[in-house]
Amino acid sequence: MSQANYLWNPAPVHSLPVRGNEARFPVKRIFCVGRNYHAHAVEMGRPVDKSTMSPFYFLKDASTLVESGATVPYPAGTANYHYEMELVVAIGKAGFRVAEADADAMIYGYAAGLDMTRRDLQLVAREQGRPWDLGKNFEKSAVCTEIIPAAGLGVLDQGAINLQVNGETKQTADLSLLIWNIREIIADLSKFYHLEPGDLIYTGTPEGVGAVKAGDRITGHIDRVGDIALTIGQPE
Ligand code: MN
Repeated sequence: MSQANYLWNPAPVHSLPVRGNEARFPVKRIFCVGRNYHAHAVEMGRPVDKSTMSPFYFLKDASTLVESGATVPYPAGTANYHYEMELVVAIGKAGFRVAEADADAMIYGYAAGLDMTRRDLQLVAREQGRPWDLGKNFEKSAVCTEIIPAAGLGVLDQGAINLQVNGETKQTADLSLLIWNIREIIADLSKFYHLEPGDLIYTGTPEGVGAVKAGDRITGHIDRVGDIALTIGQPE
């Protein structure tokens, strides 16, 4: 067998550490749920009626992943760079059209994540009916902690989630306030995609999103999952 011959070195596998395991979690895709807490949907001017609406998604490339604790430069092209604190679900099994009752078995673990957002660019795209990529899917925009294996945790239906900027609390909520819970998201998302091991799902942010500037330090916490941190550096 001949070895594949590439013009240059292929992109590396993007991965996250796993608590209690020397092996890392190789990341395949990063799905993000939009507007999954009522109070955040309202602050964005787009309230959600679960009885008539479905969840919606956008993706970030695996190459946008940054490990908690990093310093990232203030990104290009924005004057309104926002934090969004989120529970991340790490998928460990393949599944398509997964029933809610079978969703638990799909979950390898959890993490705390920051869905960093160029809000000005996202809102321009939203108003003009354009894709959200410039606002959401940009370099170093998907911040994530180590993966905490789900074994022993079960499905996280409740627990405090909060975020601070320079020590001042900006977001504080509870996972029980998710509009579509973890099982419902896995069931719905798997109607549209063949979920695979390595997929991450950012489950949405609670209210209190806001802007950060160079020099700010973001910290966040999710009960039973852990703590995340990000420092904002100077613009490139
Ligand atoms: Mn988000």
